[in-house]
Amino acid sequence: MNAFHAYCQKALDNIRAQGRYRVFTPLQKRAADFPWYLRPDGSRVLVWSANDYLAMGGHPVLVEAACEAARTMGAGSGGTRNISGTSPVHDDLEAELASLHGKQAGLLFTSGFVSNQAALSTILNTFPDGPDERWHVFSDAKNHASMIAGIKGSRATVNIFRHNDMAHLESLLRAAPAAAPKLIAFESVYSMDADIAPIGAICDLAARYGAMTYLDEVHAVGMYGPNGGGVSERDGVAHRVDIIEGTLAKAFGCHGGYITGDADVIDFIRSTAPGFIFTTSLPPMTAAAALASVRHVRQDHARRAKLFERADALKQRFDRAGLPRIESNSHIVPLHVGEATLCTELSQRLLTEFSMYATPINYPTVPRGEERLRFTPGPLHTDEMMDSLTAALLQIVPQKHRRAA
Ligand SMILES: *Cc1c(COP(=O)(O)O)cnc(C)c1O
Repeated sequence: MNAFHAYCQKALDNIRAQGRYRVFTPLQKRAADFPWYLRPDGSRVLVWSANDYLAMGGHPVLVEAACEAARTMGAGSGGTRNISGTSPVHDDLEAELASLHGKQAGLLFTSGFVSNQAALSTILNTFPDGPDERWHVFSDAKNHASMIAGIKGSRATVNIFRHNDMAHLESLLRAAPAAAPKLIAFESVYSMDADIAPIGAICDLAARYGAMTYLDEVHAVGMYGPNGGGVSERDGVAHRVDIIEGTLAKAFGCHGGYITGDADVIDFIRSTAPGFIFTTSLPPMTAAAALASVRHVRQDHARRAKLFERADALKQRFDRAGLPRIESNSHIVPLHVGEATLCTELSQRLLTEFSMYATPINYPTVPRGEERLRFTPGPLHTDEMMDSLTAALLQIVPQKHRRAA
């Protein structure tokens, strides 16, 4: 297939020319030394953009649970959930997650991506194809690729509403056939813009127009709400959301994805979604570590408080230094750059000259002109680390990109 090789080469040349060719930076995570990582040459790097938001990944509670489970149950589960791959720890974890969100049932997937893709495509492929019968899905313009994959893999009529724009969402709901089944799919914390959806207002609209709600709380679980149940818990509206989706791979520091909701809906997805049925279940050691993490994080209120205190501390430093921070009411601190090549270069220079790492976020993750560096300070990022980061940025961010301090 020479034509396809030529296609690949041309596409890659194009990506390179736009300064958005992805080069992975190998960094070895170190459980006892987070957020310091090791480079292949043995040097230490201070990482500022891990999604291990609460620094749970290396926590002894998880590590011991994983080791103990690996010793007793082995490394892999050895089957799909249906084919001897359901360990009691999978069931316990699902019950724990359902309880975390105040829902009747939970269902595990091998990742958060798979949970969104599988759940949304399965839900939206139900009902016949008539204009008043087929699903209408209302999807926030900034929804994650995994939700888009699920929506695109369905027969639903797709309505995209402007990001967090309730007037636009309402106008689309009003324009859709009144009798058609409707689903609003959205996130709580949007990790690239660092802003938060008005969940209660979305539930109000859902109630008014008879829509179901599907909420991705991936960047909020463990962190928001009195017990880490997400923004829906913080806002006291979790009971109004039909399906809450989350990951065990970010603040919970482990791996895996899940959905929670009413027992019949969860049971239906369990019984029909190919992305759930036809894949080997999570390794029991992973499920055991995740369960230990969720149980720990639910009651570790100090860790949650520390996360937000640290995020505020970094925001204040950036503001005092005139660094062009993108306004954020979440724990994520994005810095506006606006050019792909400069964004990549800043990240490179942070690494080579200052031994710090922050991911450059370029198109297509964000629109062109909105390129940014994304910082996710956590409970273990100290004042001293923040001072060195700010000083480093002041040396490398061009003057014309700064604001009056
Ligand atoms: C990371 C992410 C996912 C996928 O979760 P994984 O467990 O990493 O697969 C889903 N939704 C959003 C918004 C995410 O940022």
